[in-house]
Amino acid sequence: MVKHLRSLFQHAEAVAGQDPALAKRYVQMARRIVMRTRVRLPTDLRHRYCHRCESYLRPGGNARIRLRTAGRNGSLVITCLVCGYRRKLIWNRVKRNASTKASKNATT
Ligand SMILES: [Zn+2]
Repeated sequence: MVKHLRSLFQHAEAVAGQDPALAKRYVQMARRIVMRTRVRLPTDLRHRYCHRCESYLRPGGNARIRLRTAGRNGSLVITCLVCGYRRKLIWNRVKRNASTKASKNATT
C-alpha cells in the first residue's frame, strides 16, 4: 500500500513542473487512500505537499524552505508559495530523512 502511495507521489513529482493541477490530483488521491485505509503516510512524503491547499511542493518551484538554526534544536520551515501556508518542522526529526537533504542546501 505504501508502495502505491509512493508511486502516486512519483507521478506528482513528474508532472509538477508542467501541470501543477494534475500533481495536486495525485496528492489528493494519495490523501484519500490514507484516510480510507489508515495507512500512515511516510514522513518524507508528508512533507511533499501543502496541508492546506494540497499542492505538490517543489522546493525552488512553488515552495520555499528555510532553516532556522537558532536554539538547540533549530527548525525547518516549508512555505507553500501557492497559498502561503507555513509548516514548521523540528530539525532533529527531519535530519534523519535523507530525501529532503538535497533541497536543504539550495536555500540556505
Ligand atoms: Zn498551499
